[in-house]
Amino acid sequence: MKKHNFSAGPCILPQEVFKEASQAVLDFNNSGLSILEISHRSKDFVDVMEEARSLVLELLGLEGKGYKTLFLQGGASTQFLMTAYNLLQTKAGYLNTGTWSDKAIKEAKLFGEIVEVASSKDSNFNFIPKGYNIPKGLDYLHLTSNNTIFGTQLKDFPSTDTALVCDMSSDIFSRQMDFSQFDLIYAGAQKNMGPAGATVVVVKEDILGKVNRQIPSMLDYQTHISKSSMFNTPPVFSVYTSMLTLKWIKKLGGISAVEELNEKKAKLIYSEIDVNPLFEGFAAKEDRSMMNATFRLLNDDLKEAFDAMWKEAGINGINGHRSIGGYRASMYNALSLESVATLVDVMGDLERKA
Ligand code: PMP
Repeated sequence: MKKHNFSAGPCILPQEVFKEASQAVLDFNNSGLSILEISHRSKDFVDVMEEARSLVLELLGLEGKGYKTLFLQGGASTQFLMTAYNLLQTKAGYLNTGTWSDKAIKEAKLFGEIVEVASSKDSNFNFIPKGYNIPKGLDYLHLTSNNTIFGTQLKDFPSTDTALVCDMSSDIFSRQMDFSQFDLIYAGAQKNMGPAGATVVVVKEDILGKVNRQIPSMLDYQTHISKSSMFNTPPVFSVYTSMLTLKWIKKLGGISAVEELNEKKAKLIYSEIDVNPLFEGFAAKEDRSMMNATFRLLNDDLKEAFDAMWKEAGINGINGHRSIGGYRASMYNALSLESVATLVDVMGDLERKA
């Protein structure tokens, strides 16, 4: 039986993408070769890469606006240092909203002065700081649009002249917004896009080339742009499968269609968390993430029964991250409303039995 997969990442992807990707592992494009054994320089794969790169811009509404898409390796964690390496000349601002922002700050400190414009660290990152001041003279301001571990999400982005860099690892392609407000967006593939191994970077070309330091070729965005994201062997399977997922999003009607479903899923789980007296949400209500709902049982004595019940219902991956405990239901694009309804039913059953 297929599980209701609430994993935080790697996570659920569309079933039809799994089918098509597995077919390509056996025979890619009727070539008699597997996607895993063809040359990344073959025309068939170059076409895949180009389609994936352009679908990203199309879905984000960034075509013809001076942006380039890259599929790089090293995870979003490598982007923590690469963004700073390429963009930080003297001083950059960081909004500290969670473990991943904290890690990005640590890496960026190797390259220049870091101003933490605001932080919710003292309250274990259960809200998004607002109304903070953005000092003048920053090379960029770094934001994390969705905090995977704590279940908070930025609903509003600062309107500022400062260049904006955003880690969208856990909510890219899940909600519509004006993506042109960002100068650089990055995201690991393994949530809403594809298998781990690729990291998508969307960068406005005119912010590059402004730092004085020498940048090693592999860490220089300009190297990858000049080689159409083929400077070295790309993560072929991850790029191919990401392309399939991007096509799936387009077929559904683009990001706005996906967002509509994501809103329904989030509404369903959060209403249960709020009405069910056995549970309590972790994140401040106005900052709740549409992707990762974090909650806990008020009475730990019920944990054993609850855990047995959701496992029995075929649910997978709702244990909270070790830094906050409790539960986390990750509801990425490919998770169905039915899966969320199944979890909500189990939560209701627990209340009736307790
Ligand atoms: N940023 C965010 C928001 C994340 O959720 C994660 C991974 N869960 C990372 C960065 C790190 O990504 P990676 O493991 O691809 O380096």
